[in-house]
Amino acid sequence: MPPVREYYERLSTVLGPQHWWPAKTQFEIVVGAILTQNTSWSNVEKAIANLRAAEMLRPEAILNVPMARLARLIRPSGYFRQKAKKLKAFCRFLEQEYGGSLARMFETPTVELREKLLGVFGIGPETADSILLYGGSHAVFVVDAYTKRILQRHRWVHEKTSYDQLQSLMQSAMPQEARQYNELHALFVQVGKNWCRGREARCSECPLEPFLKESR
Ligand code: SF4
Repeated sequence: MPPVREYYERLSTVLGPQHWWPAKTQFEIVVGAILTQNTSWSNVEKAIANLRAAEMLRPEAILNVPMARLARLIRPSGYFRQKAKKLKAFCRFLEQEYGGSLARMFETPTVELREKLLGVFGIGPETADSILLYGGSHAVFVVDAYTKRILQRHRWVHEKTSYDQLQSLMQSAMPQEARQYNELHALFVQVGKNWCRGREARCSECPLEPFLKESR
């Protein structure tokens, strides 16, 4: 079992609070979680700024706007036609299941809501878990490519380890608490961006370097 609590404590001490998710409303978190698929956050910010300027950061506005206009507004986030369909699919789901209320949606028990979200077009496990954790404070750990890369390089998992396996590994090594899952995910993103990069691992400068030896 990876020493996840120790990772968390070390990274919190070195990097401090991460203040995620950078959004003004719950709906903006949902929109960001969908738009961030396969692109960088700076592109998502441009798309969200366009939606805000057009007063479209409301479920009913997304439902009513023509698809072509929505796609144009979110163009900076890439794959914009697909993502326009995904945003509309989520808003339709919200309207049909919860009368358009995110508050009602987030009152649904975690396992049940996760299943329902995974049934919506364009929502996979990482997006569903981002919505649950950052939008609704449900205690689910969000696994991403950084999580996998870090655990793989520390030899706790391998290339074929699945999303669900990674998630249960992380969750069983930490108290089941949204605040800590929120923070650790954000801290891992910092490690992945700054030190544990795809082509290059800058271990000698990385805060997780002390854990490298014991995993080998
Ligand atoms: S950069 Fe090195 S020490 Fe840091 S997380 Fe990656 S493998 Fe571990």
